[in-house]
Amino acid sequence: MCSGRVDLKFILRAFLNGQDGVFVGGCRLGECNYTTHGNYDALNMTHLCKKIMEYIGLDPERLRIEFMSGADGILMAKITDSFTSQVKELGPLGKKEGIQRKKLKSKLEKVIKLIPYIKLSKNEKLGKHFDNKEEYNELYTIEEIENLFNEIPSYYIDREKCQACGICKRKCPVDAIDGKKDLVHIIDQEKCIRCGTCFEACPSRFAAVTKILGRPVPSPVPEEERIIVRKSKEKGAKTIECSKEY
Ligand code: SF4
Ligand code: SF4
Repeated sequence: MCSGRVDLKFILRAFLNGQDGVFVGGCRLGECNYTTHGNYDALNMTHLCKKIMEYIGLDPERLRIEFMSGADGILMAKITDSFTSQVKELGPLGKKEGIQRKKLKSKLEKVIKLIPYIKLSKNEKLGKHFDNKEEYNELYTIEEIENLFNEIPSYYIDREKCQACGICKRKCPVDAIDGKKDLVHIIDQEKCIRCGTCFEACPSRFAAVTKILGRPVPSPVPEEERIIVRKSKEKGAKTIECSKEY
């Protein structure tokens, strides 16, 4: 119902599905019926998406956002015609850009997987509303987007610190953490969307999740070495303070 609901994922998925162009239509800026002004969010997000498209080698002109009211039927028809002609001129997705379909698919899949990380990283900027439409053009730079993709964090669970409380596993939005009672938890790097939730969720007294930047992630702990031997079970030893989450 609101253009503010149009997520980065919807647009990139449309391109992944082979659409040659994506048009987002919203209500006129400043005329939102609600206090949310979601059309500004849509405008902001579209500019971010255009820069991401530029970064992966797609012509950002394949994406357009326009604003009009329910009474602007003629305007709507004109804009639709103009965008259709523009997309026809650009031709099939990737052709003008010289990117093979398979390579483009893999690039789009990688970016789609990173959407939660992108949105978290750009959270502050994504919330900005400007009165002047032109100010959005300068909100994101290509250098900034390059840095965003060059600084993608990875998360790793330290086998010496993990107490298998299970909090990270329950909070992970994509089920990327494997673990059970008395078993060091491990992160499936393929499934991980780098949202950082586990990093925030691991209790500070354990601080077992490490954020890794610019270096490879250590190999996962071998299955046979994942069992946690509680000191409380060792004769004469003190009890480790461990959450009873499981
Ligand atoms: S960063 Fe942690 S919580 Fe987020 S997806 Fe990866 S493993 Fe799951
Ligand atoms: S929240 Fe921390 S201590 Fe608990 S299972 Fe996850 S990594 Fe281990």
